[in-house]
Amino acid sequence: MTELVIATKNPKKLHELQRYLKAVRAKCVSLKEFTGVPRIVENGRTFKENAVKKAVIISRFTKMLALADDSGLVVKAIGGEPGVRSSRFAGPGKSDKANNRKLLDLLKDVPLNKRQAKFACAVVIAYNGHVVKIIEEECIGLIAFEARGKYGFGYDPIFLIPKYKKTFGELGLKVKDRMSHRSKAMARARNFLRSYL
Ligand code: IMP
Repeated sequence: MTELVIATKNPKKLHELQRYLKAVRAKCVSLKEFTGVPRIVENGRTFKENAVKKAVIISRFTKMLALADDSGLVVKAIGGEPGVRSSRFAGPGKSDKANNRKLLDLLKDVPLNKRQAKFACAVVIAYNGHVVKIIEEECIGLIAFEARGKYGFGYDPIFLIPKYKKTFGELGLKVKDRMSHRSKAMARARNFLRSYL
């Protein structure tokens, strides 16, 4: 069976991506199984640039098929921030709660009809240092006025889905899996890999 390296050392992300790739005839391998993995600085201007960089470097290093993703939140009223800085918006090492607080503070005087936001995800598959597939997907929503719900991670408690009038934090994984940026991108990655392998 073909082996596919998932270009992350984050066990939660590995688990999530493996779950999406269950129906693919490939054995998913964690980066943790390799030694001397090059350090990758995620300094791209876009999610796509970061995902390309990770997939290319890891596929070249492992000489295997590699899949990398990069994602984050884009908020229109503040010029697309936090964008590629989503995980470190409130500063390096700061919590999800601190990131949410900073965003809510920045938007405190912004009315609901100007709180448009989207989650964006880029998934890149590369082989031996060459990109073979780039996939980009989005999930559209609004930024709530306060954090709500206990599910998910990151900005989920403040990401409001207008159709349900609830945040991803309230809606839970079942609903999120049907409509999230990452699940849509990974469904396309799964279809691509099925025909590619
Ligand atoms: P990563 O590239 O998937 O590690 O995501 C970078 C950051 O974007 C995360 O640390 C979160 O702050 C944010 N983010 C990405 N996807 C989601 C999501 O589905 N829900 C909430 N926050 C997310």
